[in-house]
Amino acid sequence: MSVGSVLERIRNLRGSGASKQAAPRVDLTGQELHEAVLLLQDYEASGLGWFWASDREGRITYISDCVAKLLGQERSAIIGQPLQSMFILERDEDDPVERTLPLLLSTRKTFSDLQVRAAIDGKEMWWSISGRPQADEAGEFTGYRGNGNDVTATRQSQRDASRLAQYDSLTGLANRHRMGKRLSATLTAYQKSKRSCAVMMMDLDRFKAVNDTLGHPAGDELLKQVAGRLQRIVTEPGCEIGRLGGDEFQIMIPDLDDRGRLGEIARTIITMISQPYQIEGSRCVIGASVGIAIAPYDGINSEELIRSADLALYASKGGGRGQFRFYSSELHSEAERRRQIEEELRDALAHDQMHVVYQPIIDTKSNKVVSLEALARWTHPELGEISPGVFIPIAEEANLIGALGDWVLKRACAEAAGWPGGVRVAVNVSASQFGNAGFAAVVAQALAHSGLQPERLELELTESVFLGDENATSDMFAQLKLLGVRLALDDFGTGYSSLSYLQHAPFDKIKIDKSFIRGVTRPESRNSAIIASIVSLADALKMDTTAEGIEAQDELHAMRALGVKQIQGFIYACAVPPDEVSAAMLSGTWVIEPEGPSKYRPERRTVLRKVGLIHEDHRYEAMMRNLSRTGCLVEGLVDVPVGTPFVVDFGDGQLAVAVVRRSAGATQGLEFEQQLVDDGAGGLCTRHRVSPYILAQVAAPQPVAGAGQYPPQPGMPLSIPRFGQIETSKVRTKVA
Ligand code: C2E
Ligand code: CA
Ligand code: CA
Repeated sequence: MSVGSVLERIRNLRGSGASKQAAPRVDLTGQELHEAVLLLQDYEASGLGWFWASDREGRITYISDCVAKLLGQERSAIIGQPLQSMFILERDEDDPVERTLPLLLSTRKTFSDLQVRAAIDGKEMWWSISGRPQADEAGEFTGYRGNGNDVTATRQSQRDASRLAQYDSLTGLANRHRMGKRLSATLTAYQKSKRSCAVMMMDLDRFKAVNDTLGHPAGDELLKQVAGRLQRIVTEPGCEIGRLGGDEFQIMIPDLDDRGRLGEIARTIITMISQPYQIEGSRCVIGASVGIAIAPYDGINSEELIRSADLALYASKGGGRGQFRFYSSELHSEAERRRQIEEELRDALAHDQMHVVYQPIIDTKSNKVVSLEALARWTHPELGEISPGVFIPIAEEANLIGALGDWVLKRACAEAAGWPGGVRVAVNVSASQFGNAGFAAVVAQALAHSGLQPERLELELTESVFLGDENATSDMFAQLKLLGVRLALDDFGTGYSSLSYLQHAPFDKIKIDKSFIRGVTRPESRNSAIIASIVSLADALKMDTTAEGIEAQDELHAMRALGVKQIQGFIYACAVPPDEVSAAMLSGTWVIEPEGPSKYRPERRTVLRKVGLIHEDHRYEAMMRNLSRTGCLVEGLVDVPVGTPFVVDFGDGQLAVAVVRRSAGATQGLEFEQQLVDDGAGGLCTRHRVSPYILAQVAAPQPVAGAGQYPPQPGMPLSIPRFGQIETSKVRTKVA
């Protein structure tokens, strides 16, 4: 560009001057004008800023050369183009201002410091532009004149700062602040459109152990790897994964209320997070628990929903860790009960409410009792017998398992010392007991006090002892082996089931979990092939095998055929008190003949609760006797023909379409149209629920309405029931 042409331009610009909007201008002499142009050019060349002008149609009439260069174009090619063509006017959530440029130009108003993205290929550059409208002598708008400068660096640092404020610097996941904001925004928007949104809370099991044994840098590395795995597993559209702090993660999944699918995701998370990690050269394993809540069913706003998901997480940890749980309204009373149990568990030992019973483990060939498993029992003065399945996880969670486990160990050793011959005693050891550096000393003491020979004590460990640091684990194994006690791998097949554990750890026995036994005799089941391979592996490694939970003759035959060495199950005996053990072993050996049904009867979940049955426009009340994935047995209606369709109302918006398949007297067997899914707690639930918005429209506000017109409509003539209803409380209340 020649100085002359600029001069010309500036003269022209001056000529169109004196408008109301234009800034007052200074009259310059020819020499001054020349200087002014040189200064302007110096300024443009310095890169500090640039100038632009447009005509009344918004077409570029002047642009600094440096801008044309940046855009990779000739100035002449830019002149005459619409001003907007220099910028990318895409929608950017972070910067709503950007979209206002065309609008501003059309209003012909002054604007300043508008941030726009330069239309440069492959490079992100941001400019701040200002513009002042110009007018001719008659006051008519003639176009814009303005300036611009590069703000890329400032924008970048602003963005970094806002990233820092929204993301967790360790894992790169969203932080608590961002998760909260996104969840609130999503739920507020979804309330209007009545869409659903799921929230999962995940917590690592035994993370503290890793931090304590391997150190904080290793803990940080582990969290990073956990985050990476989560990002690979959860890829649902629109989802966001966050770390709320510590080892607490949150996942938001919009538009998902299918509990079958959510259960699958949760199960995948737990399995994948539980695979071993390589950290600073050492191997480490961790577990995970998940709680799930779904809006609008379990909460409408983010506080409610998070509270529900938290409660579900609390319940899943109480259920023994490595599990997921859906929120349900019953969890409130369950949490209350757990708190009570936890409270009273502290005193249970001191108040002599605990005792130990022993379940025989039998040699498959001779039917002789070869060992007995010590199982803790708690007789609560008011609540009665509380199952160890309930109080052991609570004891673990509340840090009470150490004292309880030590007590069981001492008691079992003392009682077993009086048994004749070489009959062994097996004692369950929790992962946290095992993880305690003083555990070997506790075992040594129990042996010394009782006088029991070490080879008669068998410690039952689950795969969760491998959680945490590998070195500390091998160390404890070595100490225990030095004492001469035997080690059994309990519940094999339920946990991480990694065969590599068997190669590394000095186990003397594998206990095959009862979940593998079920269905073993069905031709389509792969369990017998799996058991066969466990047995041959155990034989090769010179380990014993025990199959747990054998109840039926066909299962026993199968175990014998598969070469399993020992059996533990109700077909031989359930756990008995110590005096019965002593009495049975008076003669020196104890032989038990197997006694049980010829075939295992598939477990029906025996339940006893009221459900609603809706037929046409009438709702009946019935008592549900048992429930399976595919159907349920109900009592309360009479004269119901086979083939009658019903909608079963389980409460909380859980409705299942069903058909009567069997009917006798007041009892009907119903088959569901769509199978129920796992609720994570060993129970079942419907895949979908009826939205509370719809329930609010059609039904009375209480979750389970009584019998009568359905949907209840005040003022309408009452519906006439087609079937007779008998009062369900009068029906027998005890189910075999
Ligand atoms: P586990 O170690 O797998 O113990 C076997 C459980 O299976 C026992 O339940 C036993 O009664 C049950 N069982 C035995 N045979 C059969 C059968 O044929 N069919 C069925 N369905 N079940 C059978 P229990 O006594 O309720 O114990 C539950 C769990 O509580 C135990 O599972 C164990 O993990 C834990 N536990 C019990 N006592 C202690 C203890 O002193 N310390 C620790 N850490 N855990 C314990
Ligand atoms: Ca056991
Ligand atoms: Ca077991």
